[in-house]
Amino acid sequence: MSNQTTFKTHQSLITPDETDIQNFAGQLKGQLIRPQDGNYDEARAVWNGMIDRYPALIARCAHVDDVVAAVNFARQHNLVIAVRGGGHNVAGTAVWDDSLVIDLSGMKQVTVDPTNKLARAEGGATWGDVDQATQQYGLAAPGGVVSETGIAGLTLGGGMGWLRRKYGLSCDNLKSVQMVTADGQIITASKDENADLFWGICGGGGNFGIVTAFEYHLHEVGPEVMFCFVFQPADNAHDALRFYRQYTESSPDEVSSFAILGTVPPTEHFPQAAHGKPFVLFAGLYAGPVEEGQRVLQPLRDYATPIVDMSGVMPYAEAQTVFDEDYPSGEMRYYWKSVYIRALDDAVIDKLIALQAEDPSPFSTIDVWQLGGAMSRIGPEETAFGSRSAPFLIGIESNWIHPEHDAGNIAWNRKVYRELQPFSDGNEYLNFPGLYEDAEQMVKTTFGANYQRLVALKNKYDPTNLFRINQNIKPTT
Ligand SMILES: Cc1cc2nc3c(=O)[nH]c(=O)nc-3n(C[C@H](O)[C@H](O)[C@H](O)COP(=O)(O)OP(=O)(O)OC[C@H]3O[C@@H](n4cnc5c(N)ncnc54)[C@H](O)[C@@H]3O)c2cc1C
Repeated sequence: MSNQTTFKTHQSLITPDETDIQNFAGQLKGQLIRPQDGNYDEARAVWNGMIDRYPALIARCAHVDDVVAAVNFARQHNLVIAVRGGGHNVAGTAVWDDSLVIDLSGMKQVTVDPTNKLARAEGGATWGDVDQATQQYGLAAPGGVVSETGIAGLTLGGGMGWLRRKYGLSCDNLKSVQMVTADGQIITASKDENADLFWGICGGGGNFGIVTAFEYHLHEVGPEVMFCFVFQPADNAHDALRFYRQYTESSPDEVSSFAILGTVPPTEHFPQAAHGKPFVLFAGLYAGPVEEGQRVLQPLRDYATPIVDMSGVMPYAEAQTVFDEDYPSGEMRYYWKSVYIRALDDAVIDKLIALQAEDPSPFSTIDVWQLGGAMSRIGPEETAFGSRSAPFLIGIESNWIHPEHDAGNIAWNRKVYRELQPFSDGNEYLNFPGLYEDAEQMVKTTFGANYQRLVALKNKYDPTNLFRINQNIKPTT
């Protein structure tokens, strides 16, 4: 590892000298971390163990003023900026070689206004931070299904979790954001203030500035909920997925569920005889009264004699953490893509099962996300997120351990992605972006009719593309 501070610059080569760097460090209430510092390796590490990048500087911000100072420093010296919220982007865009990382992970404060059912969370908070604070009042903001994920990247890219069908995407529940723009201004965006920008950040990613605080509308959820988590045998996976399709046709909005194809791990939670065998996991949360949830989710549990049934009534905050241990930070290598499909018809089911059988890693899964409900009742042009008409999203999750298996796992994932295209309109969920290899096409296709409006916003708010290590919308100015 180099001890030198080398910079990748944006457009031209203007590198800050040591005095500039010292002055910048002196402005921060937080810390400026450099390659020679003892905590540099910890600060550059992200969730995906495949990512090994060496930023020039990491500004670990403690206050919105630090974010302003960092944006100004980067702009004045033409530095490439990477922005870190929870560090869970699958492509690892929270860090970049020779860049200035503007790291919000120290800014995690969450305050709740139970009377008005609002929460304000700083840009480095995780969903665990938000759930802990809001559940004290029996309230929740729709997040994701893993508590360690950052609220920032997830919300800016849409945000699908256990409440998606009852209350919509995370971005649908935003009331306002505080952000720092490319010219170093602190502004508020909401439906009433900078409304054009607010539209863009609801699904348009980190293209328009750095969000230092998110204000969410909250809903009454829990504190106890019924949660279904039943591993069914996949001896007849076709039948299981057909059953699941039928179940989703009539389930109410309170149910947000998955069917997940995977391999039983050799752990004490599962009977030994099942280790290494394929499973279909039916997982679902009922966002409503517990007894009603028990009744409505019961068919998923009764489908067959399960391998293991871990379902039960539990605190909502706990349900939010059930998947956490499957996705350790830094230890494993990950490559995730996704495809929205038009229907879970028999041809798709055949395809999913055949492709799952070729999966090179026992840790990987193919996830069928049930969509629809509240998230689909928002028009494609109401938010930057775009089309919400697909009834299912197929998440293709490659998870493995050894670097020598990178190529095989990525090749399998991309094969699944390719072979599902005939069943899709070509859109994918931009929060599961692989390594952004095909970013330009992916962004244009998925934003569809909203793309030109996003380009106009980019031209207005970030004409030099200062914020470009993301699902980038290229300005045309
Ligand atoms: C284990 C795991 C589980 C997941 N589960 C779900 C799920 O259930 N539902 C779902 O919808 N998605 C899910 N995702 C995908 C997730 O939404 C994205 O990976 C998202 O980018 C994570 O956000 P982050 O803040 O942790 O990421 P980071 O890596 O910190 O940031 C990602 C990108 O977001 C932008 N960004 C980050 N912070 C800010 C900010 N404050 N202001 C402006 N831009 C910013 C930057 O462009 C940055 O490159 C999951 C991901 C993982 C790894």
